[in-house]
Amino acid sequence: MVAYKMKRPIKGVYVRWHADRNQIFPDYRDVSGSVVSMRRINKAKDLVNKIIDEERATIEREFTKRCSGKPRFDFDFAKEKVNSTKLSSVVKPDESVYGMTTAGTIWITPMKMSDELLIGTLLHEALHDICTVNGKVLCERDDHHVLRALGDNC
Ligand SMILES: [Zn+2]
Repeated sequence: MVAYKMKRPIKGVYVRWHADRNQIFPDYRDVSGSVVSMRRINKAKDLVNKIIDEERATIEREFTKRCSGKPRFDFDFAKEKVNSTKLSSVVKPDESVYGMTTAGTIWITPMKMSDELLIGTLLHEALHDICTVNGKVLCERDDHHVLRALGDNC
């Protein structure tokens, strides 16, 4: 069991995980949660950075399966994005868009989200575009294929 996969990885916050070793995303429960605040985002950031640090090998392995050629990984970029996360004041709360990334900043939609979904959304946005082959990022579809293999439900 990896260190971050505990019942309360953030003080007072219950998170359900997949039992499968390769699935690093939270196991989303069907609960609505409360409206996301910057305070909740800040608490989730450290955990997401910890997942990225502890799961490098797992993440690299799943991306490598999807790539032709030799992939390179930029985990610092992933963590910079996590640390840049802000609450969006532009995006209208919409059940289909939990978060998005523009110019290295992750924007979270201020809507009701469980902690699992908030953590998963940060991890999802962080892992986009970190894998390159010959200087080119994978297309969104390929990224999503890998993220699903890692336990996301995108
Ligand atoms: Zn995506």
